[in-house]
Amino acid sequence: MKTPLPPFPQLLAELIALPSVSSADAGLDMSNRHVIHRLAGWLEDLGFGVEEHALGGDKWNLVAVLGTGAGGLVLAGHTDTVPWDDALWTSDPFRLAERDGRFYGLGTSDMKSFFAVILEALRDLRAQDLTQPVIVLATADEETSMSGARALARYPLVHDRAAVIGEPTALRPVRMHKGMMMEAIRVIGRSGHSSDPALGNNALEGMQRVMGALLEWRDELQAAHREPLFRVPHPTLNLGHIHGGDNPNRICGRCELHIDLRPTPGLAVDALRREMQQRVADALAGSGLGVTFESLFEGIPAFATDPATAIVRAAEGLCQAPAEAAAFATEAPYLSALGTHTVVLGPGDIRQAHQPDEYLAMENVAPMVDVLRGLIQRFCMA
Ligand SMILES: [Zn+2]
Repeated sequence: MKTPLPPFPQLLAELIALPSVSSADAGLDMSNRHVIHRLAGWLEDLGFGVEEHALGGDKWNLVAVLGTGAGGLVLAGHTDTVPWDDALWTSDPFRLAERDGRFYGLGTSDMKSFFAVILEALRDLRAQDLTQPVIVLATADEETSMSGARALARYPLVHDRAAVIGEPTALRPVRMHKGMMMEAIRVIGRSGHSSDPALGNNALEGMQRVMGALLEWRDELQAAHREPLFRVPHPTLNLGHIHGGDNPNRICGRCELHIDLRPTPGLAVDALRREMQQRVADALAGSGLGVTFESLFEGIPAFATDPATAIVRAAEGLCQAPAEAAAFATEAPYLSALGTHTVVLGPGDIRQAHQPDEYLAMENVAPMVDVLRGLIQRFCMA
């Protein structure tokens, strides 16, 4: 006997009440198992076949499917949230509060509410009406390592289909975002007394050459790669942190620079990394200085879906809005890499994400449910 699905506010309240913080700080990091489990239970009640996949470290992905076929629709999102600052919240971040036409709670916008919206859209769906499958994908650790998204290659159910990732876009379809890289460059020289330059090899002076080469490379990248859909319509390279030396009267023996690079679609993370390392090595050639590189995280590829794909056109039609570019990164490039045409489209607002008193505007719920029902109609019942 199937348990009837709770009403929307209760679905959302239960998801918000299950903490699933991910953080690079091991003291704050939590498992997302309870959220995955709760979603699995509800989807099973709706007739879905459910797979819960362990990723290690008690982190979990969920893939659930109703119906069969090679096409259909993937509805995807991450189950984790960022940490919260208790002192800045007006109410308990884990108890859904309804006031002023808003649902308040940690993860309301980013992005647990999307799962409640999915369930609401599926509530009255009859499996026998499906000609193609509806697939629900829930991932772990989007806010940190993207370990959930990086595992998607192992799930054939999410390959070569159409997908919506319900990150907060305030009901506007997004078909493009930049990638993200953060790299450390360490120039290693030799310290010595400042009165005689021959006593050492100055890493700060080497770093000045490195920075010059990086800024030159930035100019070239920006001249060669333009994408007018972005507010900042070219790749960016930011010199964000530098530390070197200790005393004015000592030759600087080590200098470390951290840069942030945001590639536009078409620029691959690995190729950029190799190019950067080559340019840095060239800048230091003949100096006698050493250099080491470290990627501060694995990097997230840029993402773009062709505007002519069925999912972009359907989302634009249902939302009555042209597809845009977002200024934030998502799991979309990992689905795209598997041949799945992906649109990012959700009910929350990115300005609410990662904020105290995060909320979801109640008025966004019904239109988002309608959009998902329209997409299910188009991709799974045609
Ligand atoms: Zn998110």
